[in-house]
Amino acid sequence: MAFVILEACQTEKAAECVSVCPVDCIEEGPDQFYIDPDVCIDCAACKAVCPVDAIEEEYDLSPDQEVFLQRAEEFFANR
Ligand code: SF4
Repeated sequence: MAFVILEACQTEKAAECVSVCPVDCIEEGPDQFYIDPDVCIDCAACKAVCPVDAIEEEYDLSPDQEVFLQRAEEFFANR
């Protein structure tokens, strides 16, 4: 399981999450930050510091939010 960054990041891009991640798996994309789902250790540190509540655990995603997990997978696959 991984945490996933959702739409609210696209207007804020606050970046507090990047410095708290213990495995350095959050990177900035052209439109928002992304979490590498293959590296995330599910610690929840990023969710706690996000000022716009843009981060959710993978299994809490609604069906319309699952596209953000797919986008994260594509972002890290295509780097
Ligand atoms: Fe990093 Fe933990 Fe957030 Fe995963 S849940 S992205 S490991 S801070």
